[in-house]
Amino acid sequence: MPGFDTEFDVLVIGAGACGLAAALRAAEGGASVAMVEKLDRLAGNSMVSSGSVPGAGTRFQREAGLADDPQAFIEDLLRISGPHEAEALTHRLASISAPLVEWLVDVAGARMTLITAYRHIGHRIERLHGPPSRRGRDLVDDLHAATERAGIPLALATRATRLVEDGQGGVAGAELQDRRGETTRIGARSVILATNGFGASRELIARFCPEMADALYFGAQGSEGEAIHWGEALGAGLANMGAYQAHASVADPHGALVTWTVPEKGGIVVDAQGARFGDESLGYSAFAALETARGGPVFAIYDARIRDFTASRQEEFAELVAHGGAPEDADLASLAARRGLDAATLAQTLAEAGAAAQGAQDRFGRTAWGLAPLCPPYVSTRIRPALFHTQGGLMVDGDARVLRPDGSAVPGLYAGGGAAAGISGMAGGAGYVSGNGLLAALGLGWLAGTHAARLGR
Ligand SMILES: Cc1cc2nc3c(=O)[nH]c(=O)nc-3n(C[C@H](O)[C@H](O)[C@H](O)COP(=O)(O)OP(=O)(O)OC[C@H]3O[C@@H](n4cnc5c(N)ncnc54)[C@H](O)[C@@H]3O)c2cc1C
Repeated sequence: MPGFDTEFDVLVIGAGACGLAAALRAAEGGASVAMVEKLDRLAGNSMVSSGSVPGAGTRFQREAGLADDPQAFIEDLLRISGPHEAEALTHRLASISAPLVEWLVDVAGARMTLITAYRHIGHRIERLHGPPSRRGRDLVDDLHAATERAGIPLALATRATRLVEDGQGGVAGAELQDRRGETTRIGARSVILATNGFGASRELIARFCPEMADALYFGAQGSEGEAIHWGEALGAGLANMGAYQAHASVADPHGALVTWTVPEKGGIVVDAQGARFGDESLGYSAFAALETARGGPVFAIYDARIRDFTASRQEEFAELVAHGGAPEDADLASLAARRGLDAATLAQTLAEAGAAAQGAQDRFGRTAWGLAPLCPPYVSTRIRPALFHTQGGLMVDGDARVLRPDGSAVPGLYAGGGAAAGISGMAGGAGYVSGNGLLAALGLGWLAGTHAARLGR
């Protein structure tokens, strides 16, 4: 098409997990590929994530003696998400999850191992694979290095400002603006939207997830929802728009993540009086809504064994500990005094939780207690809930092609990761299972890159 400054087979907008995987896969398939990223460095949600990616039936699971398969994974996902508008994606992503993880290790050179030290809530078996550091940064760095080895150009500080239409209902490229404000038009047979969701857009959060309008936002600032605006203008369908990943434990005031491994290993969460108010094994995303409803300060209560176990495996948590975010007390009375809790209530709470951990009925229904009963020295961290990322987005098919409400594809347009519909239910944070974010990012990126390279248009 005339009027383009330059042309590629595939243009990838956004250089997070989705964009990097899409670009690498498209190049592997023989396409000429370019990536643009609006920030001046790689700093999307994938960078701040824990980098944990589910794979059901990987060789790493088999080597660990674990029998898993996509059907079990699908059942786990749908049990937590409930019915939703993109269930075909649940099936598709679960079915490619094992080859995806193996591709990340074998082709992309990602430093990933099966996480066996603990089992994430919602997964019946250990199936999350991640960097040993538990930092998404390592995963992104490895993917980025692989795209560099493949010779794929990446323009940083270059924002896609609009899609260029082909005059027949499809997409033929994008208009970009660099850091000097200069505009370039790039033509492409296929444009892959890897721009993540809309967590940083107050306007879109108020429209689609109004209950989170006042929540602390803990995701990347680049998630401004351009894909939603562009897709709507092209008549694309949206799905699962009310769903998101929340997290119940951002350390307050440190602003660091208290990994949910802490409750999974036996910790509890109490309110300003020192009383529990829910089943922590619901998971970090679902539990965040209970904290929001409870209001006031909330605290994670655990012990030195759990703190040290977790710190030895998770760097970000270890940093929080080093910065004084997980102080210990010799007994419950001192902990209550430190945190301004009612000592008698806290003692009662610990006694009840300890009994439940030893087989008594828990009044909130928790049955998994890790290392509990807790024992001295006790440890506490003040925590607060936050919005991590949105899970709704453009409706896509099993090749990540953007669909209109009538099921037809918008020619030349793909979406993945937070830009596309997620698999975490239709509304709220309770349908999110650990790994759903990166599975949709890497999985749909992988599928989009595969299809764009093979068929183009
Ligand atoms: C603290 C935290 C921990 C998490 N841990 C996990 C985990 O362990 N496992 C898991 O599965 N999920 C996790 N998630 C969710 C996960 O990070 C996201 O679902 C996933 O990273 C989304 O990947 P993405 O490639 O779609 O987006 P991103 O990684 O955010 O990449 C999108 C990129 O597009 C760029 N961009 C946006 N608009 C434009 C534009 N107009 N032009 C050019 N560039 C643009 C952005 O700047 C950004 O760099 C976590 C999230 C948070 C916040």
